[in-house]
Amino acid sequence: MATLNDAQKMVDVLGKFIDIVSKELPDDVMAKLSELRVQEANPLAKTIYDVMFDNLDKAKKLNRPACQDTGVIQFFVRAGAKFPLLGDLRRILREATISATKSAPLRLNAVEVFDEVNTGTNVGTNVPFIEWEIVDDSSNIEIEVYQAGGGCSLPGRSIVLPPLAGYEGAMKFVFDTIVDWGINACPPLVVGVGIGTCSNSAALLSKKAMLRPVGTSHPHPKAAEMEKTIEEGLNAIGLGPQGISGKNSVMAVHVEGMAHHPSVLGVGVTVGCWANRHGVIRFDEHLNYEIISHKGVKL
Ligand code: SF4
Repeated sequence: MATLNDAQKMVDVLGKFIDIVSKELPDDVMAKLSELRVQEANPLAKTIYDVMFDNLDKAKKLNRPACQDTGVIQFFVRAGAKFPLLGDLRRILREATISATKSAPLRLNAVEVFDEVNTGTNVGTNVPFIEWEIVDDSSNIEIEVYQAGGGCSLPGRSIVLPPLAGYEGAMKFVFDTIVDWGINACPPLVVGVGIGTCSNSAALLSKKAMLRPVGTSHPHPKAAEMEKTIEEGLNAIGLGPQGISGKNSVMAVHVEGMAHHPSVLGVGVTVGCWANRHGVIRFDEHLNYEIISHKGVKL
């Protein structure tokens, strides 16, 4: 039986985790940035990578966020149906957000809708954003936190294409979006593409695709081929780090999909920036936790 103390323990752990995620990039992103840095030959682009790594080093040493825009906090929850604190989780996630906002500190990025007044806490109507998946027969919970900055959210788009547009039309939409808007999102980018029926299903899948660990491919060979084709095409544009031109535009392109209505093809695009601050933590029913995304990090 879960107690108030258990809930507070989870608030404390999650608050510290959100704080860490604002300051240290996950292992997959660090590994890919290191790889792209080595590949870069353009002197200005090499300098930008040096500055990025110096920035990350200083963020860690000085205990400060890696970018001034710490984003809107978003949670992607894969909750076991038997996890004991499920009924209190929304409050726990909101409290943890408020706690990290004070400790990190995070920039105050929740502007209340319609009133256009900053709430001052990073909490507001439907913020933090929470997306739930219930996992049958499990008592564990996996919580992914993402810090959605303004610049990297700006290229986000979704569209519903007529059936004849096909996957070629979907890829054209991705290219048009990144060519027009990608430079605003501080490349090298992680591009998530969602294929669905309507604009919301495609958009949500594109966010989930963007959050997939960098370095993974879709298990379906046609989706993996699409990822490779878009990645090669976007890299050929040569946006380079921070868009000043260079060898690569992207860290990765990830595609996710779902069965769709035969008359339409929904396509969503979500972009993550070089400072791609996401992290995954898993709790068991006794609130023992494991940090999946940042190996060796202690809270
Ligand atoms: S796009 Fe990313 S790195 Fe650039 S300012 Fe926004 S949050 Fe920071």
